[in-house]
Amino acid sequence: MGEETNVFYRNPFADYPMVARGEGIYLVDTKGKRYMDACGGAVVSSIGHSVREVVEALKTQLDSCEFAHTSQFTNRPQEALAGLLAELAPGGLNHAYFVSGGSEAVESAIKMARAYWVQMGRPEKWMVIGREQSYHGNTLGALAAGGNPWRRAIYEPMLYQRPRVAPCYCYRCPFKKDPAHCAIECADDLERAILEVGPEKISAFIAEPVVGATAGALVPHDGYFRRIREICDRYDVLLIADEVMTGMGRTGKWFAMRHWGVVPDMLCVAKGLAAGYVPIGATLVHDRIVDTFTNRRNVFQHGHTYMGHPLAAAAGVAVINYIKEHNLVDKSAKMGEELLRRLHEHLDDHPHVGDIRGKGLFAGVEFVADRATREPFEPELGFKQLVGEAAFKLGLIIYPMAGTIDGRRGDHVLIAPPFIITKAQIGRLVELLHKAIDKAC
Ligand code: PLP
Repeated sequence: MGEETNVFYRNPFADYPMVARGEGIYLVDTKGKRYMDACGGAVVSSIGHSVREVVEALKTQLDSCEFAHTSQFTNRPQEALAGLLAELAPGGLNHAYFVSGGSEAVESAIKMARAYWVQMGRPEKWMVIGREQSYHGNTLGALAAGGNPWRRAIYEPMLYQRPRVAPCYCYRCPFKKDPAHCAIECADDLERAILEVGPEKISAFIAEPVVGATAGALVPHDGYFRRIREICDRYDVLLIADEVMTGMGRTGKWFAMRHWGVVPDMLCVAKGLAAGYVPIGATLVHDRIVDTFTNRRNVFQHGHTYMGHPLAAAAGVAVINYIKEHNLVDKSAKMGEELLRRLHEHLDDHPHVGDIRGKGLFAGVEFVADRATREPFEPELGFKQLVGEAAFKLGLIIYPMAGTIDGRRGDHVLIAPPFIITKAQIGRLVELLHKAIDKAC
């Protein structure tokens, strides 16, 4: 832009184009350049940009009430959205605690787990176990639960040191197992950590069903979450599914945990919940946890000014209705298969593509310097950034990941286009991605 600015940008050295408008799966800048939004920003835009029905729903809500504090009123949109979520969520997750984004949803879950154990007469249970190669948000509690060394580094002294367990990362199995002979040792690693610390101290285990921001769509072994659920039950540890990226249809089901029939105690959603139209997040909570509070006539001591915001909730309702009316969860599943098929067709033989993986319209590509040894590129090269920048110039937006491999920064990109993408557009997306990778080499 090259002009004076008062904005403290994410990256003050980047030259951001000015966005002018959104049109379906495209964003257009003020110079008229069109970009295919193949990652929905950061896996946010699930139904595409400028959907008329959502815009109209927001106008209608603004005409009646823009805000009423939830310590004084409830409002129709939040009641309606909570009802819709209870219908869609796995059994028992019948209550929604609304917040303004993913980090807040995770913070709420972590604190709710602690508050639950206090009610249960076990106040020594406070610690949350997370995994390596995970991201749960940037606020201090969520950051402490996550396992992304790069994001944690300078805040490390401010983070409670929580135990972390092995990720379910089949391409680079932490137990050096061939996927064909997998005994899901990564799930058993949770039991090891619980016993090491003492189950009496652990309140919850948190995991992304399909890892997004640190590793580019790591899909777990089919039996992984069933075993995790068993271990959590054995040691009275709550299971928190962080579906901030994977929820609301992204992986081809309304919630990724539905792929394995596992019901967590809490489930965090954000991003796709209102698909970017207004910021919102929610912690979906199991009946038995809510009952623990209500039976004792206790409140959950937490809260944010903007929780249950009528405009955000109205956006959530309109987005869910749009997804239902256009059958977009099935589309995410079908187009996801097409996306993976095309990625394999174009990139399987590429000398610097090590792995292609994903579920639904949530795909990851991992780059390597050497395919045979799976050796990553030197981190200083910033290969994924080079791919991301080349793609952006070509008019394709993908999401380079700040992942870590063996303590070094690795190279992954995430591809997560809106569910309305067509087969022809997927073809174009993959062609442009291929070109971008070649330009970065
Ligand atoms: N949890 C997961 C799995 C995420 O991917 C993210 C963001 O990328 C968050 C939490 C944090 O969400 P937010 O950026 O809305 O605070």
